[in-house]
Amino acid sequence: RCCGSSKGIGEKERTLGIIKPDGFSGNYTDRIKQMVVEYGFNINREMVIQLDEELAAKFYAEHSSKSFFSSLIKYMTSGPVLVMILEKENAVAHWRDLIGPTDAGKAKLTHPQSIRAMCGVDLEKNCLHGSDSHQSAEREIAFFFKETPSDEAVEKHDEL
Ligand code: GDP
Ligand code: MG
Repeated sequence: RCCGSSKGIGEKERTLGIIKPDGFSGNYTDRIKQMVVEYGFNINREMVIQLDEELAAKFYAEHSSKSFFSSLIKYMTSGPVLVMILEKENAVAHWRDLIGPTDAGKAKLTHPQSIRAMCGVDLEKNCLHGSDSHQSAEREIAFFFKETPSDEAVEKHDEL
């Protein structure tokens, strides 16, 4: 079963996707989910959550020294978000491809088929999050979702 700390050829991988407040409140959720499924992702788990400042700051800790940090936290706490575990082969890279570049304004010109081009606005309000590596994905999934001991037991058993 999906997914241990390493991944081999043909194995499924997980990534964390977030529909950010502008995407969620802008009625893009159904269209985004439709694209997710069309591109072969399985939505493993999902939840709607209103981030508070502390959670948002913890999630984006790597950017805490950046000039845009406080603006980013304000954006991410401005309304509920939809958090999803997305599963497929090469999920991390494929999800980043599908959402497009960070700057949604530029994405409209350079990556018109990307989801950020469809629902994002600019470098900050870009509608979506995607993990940037396999390691980040597993860390971010653990940040939002408790995986029960019985899940783990099933995984270990299936790997035998
Ligand atoms: P991502 O991995 O493509 O989401 O981009 P980053 O990890 O570099 O940045 C995290 C999030 O911070 C982005 O998705 C944007 O919402 C926001 N962001 C990134 N760079 C900037 C910037 O230069 N200015 C502002 N205002 N927001 C930014
Ligand atoms: Mg990032």
